[in-house]
Amino acid sequence: MSTELANQKVRNIKVDLDKCNGCRSCEIACSAFHAKPKYSSINPARSRIRVTMDLLNDEYVPIRATDYTKAGCDGRRTYTIRGKEYSECSFCGTVCPTRDLFKEPDSGLPLKCDMCEDEKEPLCVQACPRGVLTCEEIDAVQEEVKLDDMELGMRSLIDKFGSKKVADTYNRMTKKG
Ligand code: SF4
Ligand code: SF4
Repeated sequence: MSTELANQKVRNIKVDLDKCNGCRSCEIACSAFHAKPKYSSINPARSRIRVTMDLLNDEYVPIRATDYTKAGCDGRRTYTIRGKEYSECSFCGTVCPTRDLFKEPDSGLPLKCDMCEDEKEPLCVQACPRGVLTCEEIDAVQEEVKLDDMELGMRSLIDKFGSKKVADTYNRMTKKG
C-alpha cells in the first residue's frame, strides 16, 4: 500500500471507557450521518463505530472501524478483564473476512471510519451524552494515503471475486446497446 510522510495534524478520538453506559447513541448518529441520502435511515449495522457489550459485567467498549484486511490474523489472544475472558476480536476495529462486523449488511463491502472530516466535530462525539468520546488533533508523523470509499469497495470485490470477473462484470454492465 502506498504511504506518504506528512507532518500534519490528524483527528483522533479519545475514549474514556469508565463513562460509557452502552446507550449506542454513537452507533445511531454514525449510521444516520452516513446513510444515503444523509439522515434518511438509522441502522447500527451500518455504523462505523460499534459498542462491544458485556451487560452482566456492565462493561461497554466503543470500537471504530479501521482498515480492511483480506486475511484474518492468527493472533487469537484472550484477555481477562475483572475476571471475565474476552476474545481479542471483540476489541478489534479491522474489517476482516472472519467476522461480520463493519461490513455493509446488503453488499458486504467494508465500512471504515472517515472521522466525519467534513464536520466540525465527528457525529459520534456530538451524540455521546456522557462525554466518553473526545476529538483531538494529533501530529501525524506518517500518514497513510486514505483510500476513498470506491477504491476500498473495489479492492474488496477484487479480493473476493478476482480482477477478471470484476472487470468482465463492469464491461458487461457499462456496455451500451
Ligand atoms: S468519527 Fe464519524 S465515521 Fe467515525 S465512527 Fe464517529 S461518526 Fe462514525
Ligand atoms: S454514545 Fe457514548 S455512552 Fe453511549 S455507547 Fe456510545 S460511547 Fe458509550
